[in-house]
Parts: sequence; C-alpha cells; structure tokens
Amino acid sequence: MKIHEYQARELFAQFGIPTNAGEVARTPEEAKAIAAKIGKRVVVKAQVHVGGRGKAGGVKLAANPDEAYEKAKAILGMDIKGLTVDRVLVAEAVDIAQEYYLGLTVNRDDNMIVLILSAAGGVDIEEVAATTPEKICKVNIDPTVGIQDFQIRQAIYGSGVDTKFSRQLVGFIRKLYACYVGVDSELAEINPLVITEQGEVIAIDAKINIDDSALFRRENIAAWREVGSDLDQYEKLAKEEGLTYVHLPGGNIGVCGNGAGLVMTTMDVVKKAGGSPNNFLDFGGSATKEGVEKGLNAVLRDPDVKGILINVFGGITRTDVVAQGIVDVYDKLPRRVPIVIRLTGTREEIAREILGSCGKPLVFAQSMWEGAKKVVELVTTAAAGA
Ligand code: GDP
Ligand code: MN
Repeated sequence: MKIHEYQARELFAQFGIPTNAGEVARTPEEAKAIAAKIGKRVVVKAQVHVGGRGKAGGVKLAANPDEAYEKAKAILGMDIKGLTVDRVLVAEAVDIAQEYYLGLTVNRDDNMIVLILSAAGGVDIEEVAATTPEKICKVNIDPTVGIQDFQIRQAIYGSGVDTKFSRQLVGFIRKLYACYVGVDSELAEINPLVITEQGEVIAIDAKINIDDSALFRRENIAAWREVGSDLDQYEKLAKEEGLTYVHLPGGNIGVCGNGAGLVMTTMDVVKKAGGSPNNFLDFGGSATKEGVEKGLNAVLRDPDVKGILINVFGGITRTDVVAQGIVDVYDKLPRRVPIVIRLTGTREEIAREILGSCGKPLVFAQSMWEGAKKVVELVTTAAAGA
C-alpha cells in the first residue's frame, strides 16, 4: 500500500529519523497558517501517490506566508500523472548542500533486504540508474540477522557520499532500517537525503510502501488506505465500467485478452517484439460481446494507442463469441487503428471463419509471437507514414 509523504514522515518521527518540520494543508488558507507558524521560508509540496512531483511542478519554495498561499493555490487541484492534488505538505525549507539517495527494499532475486545508497541523489536518480549505475551502491542485508554497521560502512564508502558525515549517516541508516522492519515496509526511500549547509543529515522526502499482507497488524497505517488513489483518469473510468484495466502511459499498443496471466504474457511478448504496451486489459474468463465492446472502447480512450493486439485462449470462453463481438463492434469504435487478433481454443474454426468473411481490416495471427510482431510492424509503419 502506498502512503503519502506527510504520513511517511509521521512514521519517521516515531523512529527518530530527522526530517524538516511540516504539516499537511487542504486549502491555501491552511497552507498560509502553517507557513506563518513555521515563520521561515517554506517548501509547498503536492501529496499524491506518485513520484516525480518536483519535475511536474508540484514542489515550490515560498519566502513568506502569502507566497505559501499562492503556491498552495497553484498546486492544489493540479494534475500530476493523471492524479489530482487535494493536499499539500508545507515544510520548513532547507538549505541544501548535497542531495543523496537512500533506500531499503526487497531484493527478490537473493531473498534479502537491499540497502541502496548514492551520492547522486535528487530528481534525476532514474537517469543515474540507467546511465551510470556504478554510482549506486547496493548492499544485501540478511533480514534474519539484521543490519550490521560494517554493511552500512560498506555502503557509505562505496557510494561516493561525503565520508565526513559517516557517523551521522550510520545512525541515520540504522534508524531507517528499524523503521523499515518496524512498520512492515516493502520499500522505504529517501530521495533526497540531504546534507544541509549547516552540516545536518536530514530526510526532505519520504516514500514508504507497506506490505499489504501485514496491514492486519498495522491498524493505524491501514486507516490511511485511499481506495483508487493511484488510479489515473483512464483507470478510473475503466473501473467504473467494471473492467480490469491497468494503464501504462506512454505506450502505443493496446493489449487485451482473457485471463490475467495470458494478458501479462502478451504484454511481455509485445515488448520482446520491440513494441511498447499501453495497457493491460483482461476481458475476463467469459468474454462476451458487451465485454469486448466496453474493453476496446476503454483501450482506445488514450489517443497514444495506435494499434491493438487481442489474444484470446478459448477454454470456457468461446472464441466464436469473441470473434463475433469484435466484428459487431468494429464499425462502432471511436477511431480506426490496426487490430491484430490471435484466437485459439474452443470453436476456433468458426471464429476464424467469422473473422475471415467479415470484410473488415482485422489481421489474423497464428501465434502470440506472430501477433506481437504484426502489431508492432503495423504501428511502426503507420507512424512512419504519418
Ligand atoms: P519528488 O520530485 O516527488 O521526489 O519530490 P522531492 O520531495 O524529492 O522534491 C524534489 C526536489 O525539490 C528535491 O530534489 C529538491 O531539489 C527540491 N526541494 C525539496 N525540498 C526543498 C527544500 O526544502 N529546499 C530546497 N532548496 N529545495 C527543496
Ligand atoms: Mn523525491
């Protein structure tokens, strides 16, 4: 479960992890009052269940309470990656000397907790990870033993951080580890962890994800659950329509099928064929004509979708029903994009006949791999021609 930065800061406080003081506001007036109480320059920060707020304009400095009012007014209601901001954190602004990255998460390959530290923290950490991964130091921690000081030092000396602060950093990381384990977190990330001009080590951002399976014993945290708070506009509409849909903004190929495993596999195969999936859509175990129609409309809502791959395995699902559904809705679709269909299983021959004789530009594929290659090719050719 995701929680907000201001909530993560509450957990940090319980474990003695230093942060810059702040409070949450739901209106510009509240933001102004908090800024007045702090009595110094503040930072106003959007509270949404998504990262990259800084780059999206959701983090702004304010010199005085009036400015805090204005910045809060600008940020409240803002759309960040499809989520609407309804709260801001108003925190004492910090004079930053260095921005580091510090994180703890599960290393599923090694069955360990992994401590991650880098001197190259800040809003470009994804780029650092992609282009200069050697700047990010990772140390596995055995959860049955717990974190050891030598492991923390290994991270400090391997990460390029200023070793002048190693005593403070050791204490800081110990506390973060206690918090990580103590709240049943599966990810605790501080980016940036800063060294201030005054030489303090503090967290000015806080991201904690809680293991859903542990919420039964973390009642106070479970109360923070906001159902649907991380759904974007496309996902919200699809959810209202009862669809199982996950949006992958930026992709250009719609992916649908019946059964979660099959659809996820299809997305992997599209990716392997050089394509970029825009969504996951599961028609469900018994795809009906209505289901197919609703599903395709949902997929086509994102204008980035330039082609669709439908992958249906007929067990209980009758592939002829799905085929007829596609044919019937084709002319009613809001826009034309190439549709590649791979159908196999129950009543497959009839399904092929229906699709083959319908006179519509629907492309067959004999296999999932062929379907993926075809849809990628069609989308690429269309993009080149446009
Ligand atoms: P994110 O973009 O969602 O990760 O939001 P962050 O909380 O990490 O803020 C983004 C960036 O804003 C940070 O990397 C800092 O550079 C800057 N920032 C945040 N708080 C302060 C502050 O108190 N003082 C200064 N000078 N910059 C800040
Ligand atoms: Mn951050």
